[in-house]
Amino acid sequence: MNREPQSNTELPPNGESSLHDLNLKGRSVHELEALFKEIGEPAFRGRQAFRRINKHLTTDINEFSDFPAGLRHRLEGSLPDMPVVHSSVDPEGTEKCIFDAGSDRRGNEKKIEAVWIVSPRRRTICISSQIGCTLNCTFCATGTLKFQGNLETWQIVEQVYSFMRRRGEKATNIVFMGMGEPFYNYENVIRAARILHHPDGLNMSARHITISTAGVITGIEKFTVSREPFNLAVSLNHPDLSERTTIMDVNKKFPLDKLLIAVRKYTREMDRKITFEYVMIPDVNMGSDNARKLIKIGRSVRCKINLIPLNTGLKGFRRPTPDEVLEFQNILLDADLDVFNRGSPGLNINAACGMLALSQKAPA
Ligand code: SAH
Repeated sequence: MNREPQSNTELPPNGESSLHDLNLKGRSVHELEALFKEIGEPAFRGRQAFRRINKHLTTDINEFSDFPAGLRHRLEGSLPDMPVVHSSVDPEGTEKCIFDAGSDRRGNEKKIEAVWIVSPRRRTICISSQIGCTLNCTFCATGTLKFQGNLETWQIVEQVYSFMRRRGEKATNIVFMGMGEPFYNYENVIRAARILHHPDGLNMSARHITISTAGVITGIEKFTVSREPFNLAVSLNHPDLSERTTIMDVNKKFPLDKLLIAVRKYTREMDRKITFEYVMIPDVNMGSDNARKLIKIGRSVRCKINLIPLNTGLKGFRRPTPDEVLEFQNILLDADLDVFNRGSPGLNINAACGMLALSQKAPA
C-alpha cells in the first residue's frame, strides 16, 4: 500500500493562508517540485525543501531560511514529527529507540523500533518498514506483535534522520532489518531508499543501504527488473526445502527452490553478490547435514553468508554456544564459502536481530 499523505489536486490555490494536512516529508525532488508548482510557487522551491528536509534534517519550517516568511507561514504544520517515546543505550553504544508512529483506525497506538549500532568502522542504523510483521517466523519476536500496517515513506526515512539528530553524526550504513518485511511494503521502502541515496539528501552510497527480505520472490523480481542499486540480503535461515517451512511460514508461499532461482537471476543480471543471512538455531538448522546443504546452496549462488546466533528463546529454541557456532562456521569456511559471524550487538537492551518487540526492559 502506497499511501501518499495528500493528493496534489486537493491543495488550495496560492493565497490561502495555510495548507492543512500537507506533508512535505517522504517526497522525491520531482514530487516536491510538482507540489510547489501546484500551489503557485516556483518549482525550485521543491529542491530547496528536499534539501532542508533530507540533507539538513530540519524539523522546523521557520528554519527554511531560503523561503519567504509568507510561504513559511502557509506551510506551517507540513513537517510532521515521529517522536521517540523511549530509548535505551548499552555500554557499547548500541541505542534502541521506540517511535510513536501515530494510531490506527481503532485508536490503538502504533509503535516501531529502530537501532543505532556502533562497530569499529561503522555506525549502522537498522530501521523498520512495517508496524509489526505478518510473517510469523517462529524464532523472531516481532512476529508475536499485532500487525498494524505499513510505514509511510516519510516514517521510514524519519527513523534515520531522528537518530542522526540525536547522535549528532552521520550514519555510515542503513539496513532495512528492523520490524516488518520490506518487500511487503515495497513501494515505500524503495522510495525511502532512493531518498536516502539522493545527492540532494544524505547522499548515502547505494552500497551502504541494504534491504533484507525473508524471501518474497515477487519483490526480488521487481528489484531485479528495475535494477535497484541497493544491496539485497535474503534471510535464508534453513537450507532444506521442506524443513524451512517449519520455522518460516513464508516458505509455503515462496518456496526455497523458487527463491533460489530468483536469487540466481538477480546475481546474474546485476552481476552482484547476494547476502544470505542465516540465524543459527541448535537442533534446527545447524549440524553437519545442514552445513552440507548450505554449502551446496552457497556454491550455486554468488553470495556471502552472514551467520547470526539466535537471540531469542521463543518456542524453546536456545542460543548456540560459542563452540557450536565455531564448529558450524568452520565447516562452511573449509568449503571456501564467504562466511562471517555477524554477532549480535544490543542483546542486553533487546535491540539485537529478532528481538524488536517493543520491550523497554532488559531481559532477566
Ligand atoms: N523480514 C526481513 C527483515 C527483518 S529480520 C527479513 O526476514 O529479512 C532481520 C534479520 O534478523 C533476518 O535475517 C532474520 O532472520 C534475523 N532474525 C530474526 N529473528 C532473529 C533472532 N531471534 N535471532 C537472530 N536473528 C534473528
